[in-house]
Amino acid sequence: MRNLPRKALIIGAGIAGPVAALFLKRAGIDAAVYEAWPYATGIGGGLQIAPNGMHVLAELGLAEEMISRGEVAESFDFYSQNGARIGSINRNMKARFGQPAVNMRRAALNEVLVDRAWCEGVELYFEKRLAKIEDRADRQIVATFTDGSTAEGDFVIGADGVHSLVRQHVAPDGPRPFDTGLVSFGGFIRRSLLEDAGIGPRIEATFGKAGFFGCGYCGSDPDQGAMWWSTQPSNGVDAATFRAMGRDPLKQHVRDFHAGWHDPIPEIIDAAENIVVTDTLDVASLPTWSRGRTVLIGDAAHATSPHAGQGASIALEDALRLVRRIQEGGELCETFAQFEAERRPRAERVVAIARRNGNSKREFSPTGAWIRDRMMKLLIPLTSKGMDWMYAYNPAEAVSSPAGTSARHCRQAA
Ligand SMILES: Cc1cc2nc3c(=O)[nH]c(=O)nc-3n(C[C@H](O)[C@H](O)[C@H](O)COP(=O)(O)OP(=O)(O)OC[C@H]3O[C@@H](n4cnc5c(N)ncnc54)[C@H](O)[C@@H]3O)c2cc1C
Repeated sequence: MRNLPRKALIIGAGIAGPVAALFLKRAGIDAAVYEAWPYATGIGGGLQIAPNGMHVLAELGLAEEMISRGEVAESFDFYSQNGARIGSINRNMKARFGQPAVNMRRAALNEVLVDRAWCEGVELYFEKRLAKIEDRADRQIVATFTDGSTAEGDFVIGADGVHSLVRQHVAPDGPRPFDTGLVSFGGFIRRSLLEDAGIGPRIEATFGKAGFFGCGYCGSDPDQGAMWWSTQPSNGVDAATFRAMGRDPLKQHVRDFHAGWHDPIPEIIDAAENIVVTDTLDVASLPTWSRGRTVLIGDAAHATSPHAGQGASIALEDALRLVRRIQEGGELCETFAQFEAERRPRAERVVAIARRNGNSKREFSPTGAWIRDRMMKLLIPLTSKGMDWMYAYNPAEAVSSPAGTSARHCRQAA
């Protein structure tokens, strides 16, 4: 019998946290998840889980449920601001990669993950915001929360997202999130609006002279089963300031920004009810993903701007791969170093692609936008093939290769 740790403290009940807890539970390791916010449903916008992320949900037995609660996207089609077609990518994903790309509400995914975690005996605590971690050699690792309560375990997984506090414990002098200069608006609309516009089961995305607009189906609900998003240069205005504008001025801002864009974009914005505004943040490469008995996964380890549509999928991959490594039963600090050595090259390649994609959504001159659209028409068939490595990876079938460790990872953290 290998020497497995007995209990994990997981910070964050977003995407990576509950999934890591489920895999740990199934491996016979107890997991307690601590989430800063109260339990809530219906929060956030829509997202797409790519085939590589769907493999993780399939491993948990949740892929079919998410497909039935979401909508398979049969392609990702690009247009210019006047509606001219640029090209299409991500076709036949299921046939090519074993799982489809699935659009869903972030809230639906979170609900399914949290429900399953409850059912499988994971301890879940809401309104528990981590304040600090103490890792002393003579005792269990201790997490202290802002309400003064504490929890003890054999190790900590930081799945606390882009603003991770666990990251500050792991890499106190490491990089902080920075604003990429783009801000994202989004929400849900009735399905019939896209159906009436002749939009099929795909994502339709439009590059403007500045900014980007996307829409697609994300569930069967007639009133809220389609999602849309708009990415715009922020011009120094952050998401909180936009949110503070209030509903009608906010909607007017989005309407003004997309004035003159092709149909049905203006109609979609007119129909939008609750607009979710998000900063698009990025974090530079961390010096390390672990320290002592604490390890980072998901956005905490490698936050990515959303322009590759992969952040959630690679967070899911991390959760599965970390637990597979832990199941091998080595020293935790070595396990974490091996996990990082395995995952870092892939995660950072995705982050780099997202950065590059984000650049095509910034402000262009009319001629610059014209040239970009023509270049994209030529390049899309080539870049599309060049993205296959991202989707073709099945983390459930990946074989752990031994990796060197470094003393840096194994030092005890106070
Ligand atoms: C506008 C937008 C669109 C996106 N679209 C896509 C997409 O289509 N496809 C895709 O794959 N990815 C997308 N992403 C990226 C994706 O959302 C993230 O990569 C993903 O959510 C990361 O999962 P995570 O579990 O690491 O972090 P999160 O999902 O952010 O979860 C972190 C959790 O930790 C909690 N937390 C934070 N601090 C503390 C604390 N101190 N104590 C306790 N809990 C704490 C948070 O409240 C949160 O619940 C998008 C991102 C944005 C901003």
